[in-house]
Amino acid sequence: MDLGLKGKAALVGGSSKGIGRAIAIGLAREGCNVAICARGNAALAQTASTIRRETDAEVFSLVCDMSRYEDIKRVVQETVKSFDRLDIVVNNAGGPPTGTFDEMDETDWLQALNQNLMSAIRTTREALPYLRRSGGGRIINITSIAVKQPIDRLILSNTTRLGVVGMAKTLSRELAPQGITVNNVCPGNIATERLISLIEERAQRDGIAMEEAIEIEERRVPMSHLGDPDDVANLVVYLASTKARYITGATIQVDGGSTVAVF
Ligand code: NAD
Repeated sequence: MDLGLKGKAALVGGSSKGIGRAIAIGLAREGCNVAICARGNAALAQTASTIRRETDAEVFSLVCDMSRYEDIKRVVQETVKSFDRLDIVVNNAGGPPTGTFDEMDETDWLQALNQNLMSAIRTTREALPYLRRSGGGRIINITSIAVKQPIDRLILSNTTRLGVVGMAKTLSRELAPQGITVNNVCPGNIATERLISLIEERAQRDGIAMEEAIEIEERRVPMSHLGDPDDVANLVVYLASTKARYITGATIQVDGGSTVAVF
């Protein structure tokens, strides 16, 4: 199936590792030129060289902290300078720390809002003039199944990501006449550094071995195993494609059946 992505340009946030990295590689495999970014240079350079080695895509990489507006402005401007266009924005960054309401102070809340809500709003705002020119722009937000079922001890994630979903639904209706789609993808338990560190935390808290903690997580999934970052990337690549032109305002989980809620 030709996904119509050849020669398009995508900006993928938080893409040196994990889900963002898999998305950047997935888009590049379909012939899309990709801008990747993260806060540190080492992993970013490795990911850029993997994409260059494995695909024919052009790759532009830039160190950027998605919780800082100045960095976001710079990464959007530099991406457009590099590719002369911008068609697809994937809003993604690292997840916030775990904990309960009592464990979070003002600084924690502001950091989570900047990294997981304002980053999506700001990147979208900066990218929109170019997406409008693209004729069929795509905005895809990586959130969490927490938007369908809040996860205990993840109050920052449960709160900030619902803001993203509210923004996306409203924006999808505002941009539909222009052919720009806005969708949310919600990972369940996907085997990345982030998930491993969350499981490690849980193992320590409950005084159990890491292997046992992983087994408990796997048993929670009806498919009995953790997801792979590519499982999320495959959906994102499809939503970015011309084939998904009639899907907008949707919030879709990739979770091996974990979510019990109907919608
Ligand atoms: P990860 O920690 O494995 O990778 C995050 C990537 O983003 C890395 O490249 C990191 O360098 C980069 N990054 C982190 N903070 C950044 C910032 N402020 N600015 C720029 N780059 C930044 O995480 P992941 O598992 O790939 O998760 C991606 C997103 O999906 C996160 O928001 C996470 O909370 C969410 N999520 C993940 C899972 C899961 O099971 N892995 C489940 C639900 C939601």
